[in-house]
Amino acid sequence: MSLNQQQLENLLKSSLAVYCYDIIPSTNQTAWELLEKGEKTPFVVIASQQTAGRGQWGRKWESSEGGLYLSFAISLNLIATDAPHLTLCSGVGIVQNLENYDIPVQLKWPNDLVLHKRKLGGIYTETKVYQNRITEAVIGVGINWTNSVPEIGINLHSLNNCSIVSLEQLAAIAIDGLLSGYDFYLSRGIEQLILAYIAKLQNYGQTITIDGCKGIIVGVNQQGALKVFLKSPGASTEICLPIGTISLGYDL
Ligand code: ATP
Repeated sequence: MSLNQQQLENLLKSSLAVYCYDIIPSTNQTAWELLEKGEKTPFVVIASQQTAGRGQWGRKWESSEGGLYLSFAISLNLIATDAPHLTLCSGVGIVQNLENYDIPVQLKWPNDLVLHKRKLGGIYTETKVYQNRITEAVIGVGINWTNSVPEIGINLHSLNNCSIVSLEQLAAIAIDGLLSGYDFYLSRGIEQLILAYIAKLQNYGQTITIDGCKGIIVGVNQQGALKVFLKSPGASTEICLPIGTISLGYDL
């Protein structure tokens, strides 16, 4: 299957510059260097391998040959506290696009792409803030294609009858997903985006334990924080856990 008409139109309309590299430390880092040099946004950086790819906790992102490693650089004007919106809309856009290829991918809060309970990919957003406004953002995306993955990971190549046939096609699907997710956020706003995000959230309704207290995941708020309903005998309350305060982990 090739790109559909809408995806092709989106890519052409965006007039995106795409910079391709072989082995670099990280696509996010190269994107920031290009921005420093005054490169015109939006643009995309793609590498065949990364030697220092990172996830949101600063942990290493395994980036051997065969995987998709890209960063999308944009200029924008967003209040600093809205930075999580960029991760949410990117996740929604990419998941919706992969679903169009019959890949049953979901989101794990806040920034993982999950397939068959394993980690297929991740999104790592970095921003530049000036006077409390985000002026530039780099959204990094890693998706496992044929590359080797850690135990909790999975790659698309391991699927039977995967309808995506090449790394190039996967790159186009991911870039189109980033553009359509961002467009959805700009045109429909954060409330609609959160509804779309929750619809793809694997953790929705999941029971978790916080400080010995059992709770149920009931959503995500406007800052991307996880909403958890805690119920104990005689009392119940809803709390919000900001991004970066807990990791939901993988139960294999
Ligand atoms: P959270 O679950 O809160 O997103 P995280 O554990 O996913 O946190 P990140 O920093 O986002 O942390 O991602 C890095 C982690 O992802 C690594 O510690 C490793 O467990 C896993 N990982 C690294 N490379 C890959 C890969 N190519 N595919 C799947 N998982 C990977």
